[in-house]
Amino acid sequence: MPIEHVALPYSRAGLEPHLSSATLEAHHGVYHRSEVEQLNARIEGSEFAEMTLEDIIAKAQGSLFHLAAQVWNHNFYWQCLRPRSGGEPLGRLSESIATSFGDFVHFKQEFNRVALRISGSGWVWLVQRPDGGLAVVATPNASTPLTGPDIPLLACDLWEHAYYLDYQQDRTHYLDAFWKLINWDFVASRLG
Ligand code: FE
Repeated sequence: MPIEHVALPYSRAGLEPHLSSATLEAHHGVYHRSEVEQLNARIEGSEFAEMTLEDIIAKAQGSLFHLAAQVWNHNFYWQCLRPRSGGEPLGRLSESIATSFGDFVHFKQEFNRVALRISGSGWVWLVQRPDGGLAVVATPNASTPLTGPDIPLLACDLWEHAYYLDYQQDRTHYLDAFWKLINWDFVASRLG
């Protein structure tokens, strides 16, 4: 069974004006699709051919691991976004953020600080630690927290292809847009 190129859970124009349809067409329609096609070409006829994406990530090494991780990271990223969203989380997620970061403002500051500290490509994540606490972590290039003990709750793609068409190299402006698009219901649904 080939790995699926998952459809966006909204239209390509659904995240405008914060992320343009041109960005989603390039990022999801070209870049992410190409990763899925490369991954399927690599696993065809191999021991990985019948595995789920998560199993490939758990068992592969080197460039195959990075390719599978990027496909999973992108699948996850699309689910973290939603049209006409943003604001602040409610309920248990809000309480967990307050416990771990003090309040939402401090969490947002920490997330942005880590995101801006990554030089070059990578991802920034909100994760839930095995002890239940929340933390912000960065993964460089095409890595993923999926192989560790933390539960990924929220991801922000910091590769320039995620924002170059809209904001050129201005990662700060992209982060402003990202905060207006976060699907907090999805993030909360990930809490263990
Ligand atoms: Fe990306």
